[in-house]
Amino acid sequence: MRPDADVVVVGAGIAGLTAAHELRRAGRDVRVLEAADHVGGRMTTLRRDGFLIDTGAEQLPTRGYPATWELLARLGLGRGDAPRIRRHLAVWRAGRARPGLAHPRGLLTGAGLPVAARRALVRLLGDPHDLDHPEHGPHDTVAAYAAARHPDLLRYLCQPVVSGFFGWDPQRSAVAPLLAILTSCGTTRSWRTYRDGMDTFARALAADLDVECGVRVDGVVAEPGGARVVRGAEEIRARAVVLAVPAPVARRLHANPPDHERPYLDACTYTPVLKAHLMLDTRPRSGNYVLLVPSVESAALSTIILDHVKHPGRAPAGRGLVSLMAAPAATRSLLDAPDHEVVTALTTAAERFLPGVGAVRDAVVSRFRHGLPEATPAALALRAAFAERLGGVVDYAGDWVGLVPCSEAAVRSGRRAAARVLAAAPRRQPV
Ligand SMILES: Cc1cc2nc3c(=O)[nH]c(=O)nc-3n(C[C@H](O)[C@H](O)[C@H](O)COP(=O)(O)OP(=O)(O)OC[C@H]3O[C@@H](n4cnc5c(N)ncnc54)[C@H](O)[C@@H]3O)c2cc1C
Repeated sequence: MRPDADVVVVGAGIAGLTAAHELRRAGRDVRVLEAADHVGGRMTTLRRDGFLIDTGAEQLPTRGYPATWELLARLGLGRGDAPRIRRHLAVWRAGRARPGLAHPRGLLTGAGLPVAARRALVRLLGDPHDLDHPEHGPHDTVAAYAAARHPDLLRYLCQPVVSGFFGWDPQRSAVAPLLAILTSCGTTRSWRTYRDGMDTFARALAADLDVECGVRVDGVVAEPGGARVVRGAEEIRARAVVLAVPAPVARRLHANPPDHERPYLDACTYTPVLKAHLMLDTRPRSGNYVLLVPSVESAALSTIILDHVKHPGRAPAGRGLVSLMAAPAATRSLLDAPDHEVVTALTTAAERFLPGVGAVRDAVVSRFRHGLPEATPAALALRAAFAERLGGVVDYAGDWVGLVPCSEAAVRSGRRAAARVLAAAPRRQPV
């Protein structure tokens, strides 16, 4: 095969950009092809009328994200570019918001949990879990694991957290990835957000790379000595391809994956996420920047994010930005509904928890069909065998490869994919 390109990376999310950055740094020629008109994937910021709308990822912790911080430092970005949030997560219980969730203060005040449930929580956080190997943790579902320790641990902590941040149904997803995040990243005291929007990292990575946006790849075929990337009638032959797209997309694009890769690719499902971002004329007052709404309190809504509390620069002076995330069941029924229906359904549900939020002048709806890796026990059981045998001419990167629903897992997977490509052919050969 005579290649047209050295390495092609499909997808300019944080995993694909990390892989491309590492390969480029090692002297390889890399082309990144991205379907959307912008980089960042699920870590993107929309700019409209002075509002900075984080459509996907919201924050990053100081602890537990070493690969992210190392790469940021290399790009000249530091803690000052991602200031601490300094406000609380709260959960709604019995008519009011209870602040201090996942914060040392919460262990004293309760953050919505009775004493017995708090004790169970302390025991649960006592054992460290490995972000690189979630399969070493318990394979029980979130619901089974939490309810066995204390029913309120499920109702007022684990369910609101996994549905409100990952769009998970606690009856379907395994608890191990949640434990890995909680025990690696520590308390919300260290949580930060990029001052200039959550796409800061992706924009910095892309600045030195050859990224073509608006290019949707239709298929990838592995061949002896390389792979073909198909886009309409056009084909690009490359020595190596990294598919840095969600697992179900990788499964669809890859025409001939080896047999040992198929079981995990098939098992690695995603949960969708649906958000309405409300641009308000006033700033609803709150000491909390996130309010999680348990499913026992609302069937429609799981999370209220006060973006202007998270960082005042997210909205113009005096105005407010509030993002409402639908509960998993409501997401499934509203995902294809027109924007105005989504906004009406979510603002109606939110009025009870944040009065006045319905006075919306303008709103944006964001939809992620592949929001977060679902991490079912079935997928968890197959992950290690899949990861151990990676290294073909078509390789993979993405949070799903590590099966932990966070951007650090995406960065680590990108680094590892680049290392495998380099190990297969360390030096650049002329194309
Ligand atoms: C609502 C939400 C909140 C989150 N909150 C946080 C948080 O606070 N902190 C945190 O650490 N993580 C958070 N995450 C997780 C984090 O955003 C992801 O783990 C990470 O961004 C995944 O990066 P990725 O590169 O693996 O995938 P993606 O970002 O999905 O990148 C894949 C890219 O591939 C492109 N693509 C798809 N198909 C094709 C094709 N056929 N051809 C070309 N390109 C294609 C897509 O457009 C996309 O840009 C959140 C995610 C969501 C959805």
